[in-house]
Amino acid sequence: MAQMNYIQLEKLGEGTYATVFKGRSKTTNEIVALKEIHLDAEEGTPSTAIREISLLKELKHVNILRLHDVIHTETKLILVFEFCEQDLKRYMDQHGNRGALDPSTVKSFMFQLLKGTNFCHENQVLHRDLKPQNLLINRKMELKLGDFGLARAFGVPVNTFSNEVVTLWYRAPDVLLGSRTYSTSIDLWSCGCIFAEMISGMPLFRGKDNNDQLMHIMKILGTPSHQQLAKMLKDSPEIVLNREFPQLPKINLAQVLPKASPAALDLLERLLKFDPSERISAADALSHPYFTETTNAAPAPPPGSMPPPNFNFPHPNRHQQQQHANVLQPRNNQQQPQQQQAHQQYGLPVPVPSMFIPRQPMQGQPMQGQPMQGQPMQGQVNAAQAQAQAQAAYYNNMPFNPQQQYGHPGMQ
Ligand code: ADP
Ligand code: MG
Repeated sequence: MAQMNYIQLEKLGEGTYATVFKGRSKTTNEIVALKEIHLDAEEGTPSTAIREISLLKELKHVNILRLHDVIHTETKLILVFEFCEQDLKRYMDQHGNRGALDPSTVKSFMFQLLKGTNFCHENQVLHRDLKPQNLLINRKMELKLGDFGLARAFGVPVNTFSNEVVTLWYRAPDVLLGSRTYSTSIDLWSCGCIFAEMISGMPLFRGKDNNDQLMHIMKILGTPSHQQLAKMLKDSPEIVLNREFPQLPKINLAQVLPKASPAALDLLERLLKFDPSERISAADALSHPYFTETTNAAPAPPPGSMPPPNFNFPHPNRHQQQQHANVLQPRNNQQQPQQQQAHQQYGLPVPVPSMFIPRQPMQGQPMQGQPMQGQPMQGQVNAAQAQAQAQAAYYNNMPFNPQQQYGHPGMQ
């Protein structure tokens, strides 16, 4: 039997439809992740499942969890994936400062998230369920999109008491309003939510149900105008607007995320557009100036302390920066040599035309989990963080308790 090729090791995670184990190949000793999906014994494996899985097998990109193999028995389907050390949620719990990641890690993860998303979209694949638990991080600090929802689509629930409830926190407002004209923009909304969460350490919109989720969104983005809603309705006629929304003002994102740089806030703003037709695409997001800005939002380390961390994202082509030049301070030519110097200093790879993040050009050491930790400036970082979290908590109308959120064992 095919499954005998793998020795099942410890459990890695559990969802409603699947259980994920660590496994080792008997022939190659390679460590893998075995995702067991329990099937309806009567129906067996739907042919659509097989079709979709074969599609997924062809979706090969460094930022997409690689599906090596599919083992198919009468009662279950075992998907053999590449192994990753942890998911982004656990990574933030363990390496973040109360969940918040340092600016260079946020930038690297965000770039990789957008690269993987862009690759899916270029291949007409929507993810639909991007969230920290579905993003895997390996020891090389590579981020990979996982869990394309096949388990949910084809499996029978095995674990109805799972604490991993379906979360609405990353769901786009158009979907919450009932839109079924799903397009790539729904993934970009989720990317925005994940971006904000990596910066602050707290999920941005934490609704309890559909309506509450919309209210959380409007409390920050403001209530969309009648014209905006009418336009969304025209684009997606299945949207049902059966009630008036309270008139809520837009809050400046800088107030919610005081630690974020202006370029980061600008990108976030473009990702979190209420109207899906206004949301930035993954391709355009990848060439946003946020990814080329030289200034690091983190305080500079004092002389003689740790060197700045290496970024592990490629430097997008210069011409693409022009697209957003009007929204941020125009870059004058004198800044170029300075910028190049900084890129050399940080070991940034040269621009690559390929859509793949090349493995080799990631120069220098892989980034460490907490490059900024234990530095003398930490007190200041924590103060800013505490302020950010307190404000986010205020705007989310939730008690300020990051320990509860991520289960940190009494951090500083
Ligand atoms: P579900 O459909 O049940 O949500 P996922 O594919 O998201 O299943 O897997 C559940 C959890 O298992 C993930 O959140 C992650 O913690 C862990 N996991 C999944 N795939 C891997 C992998 N390739 N390597 C390591 N851990 C994984
Ligand atoms: Mg999942």
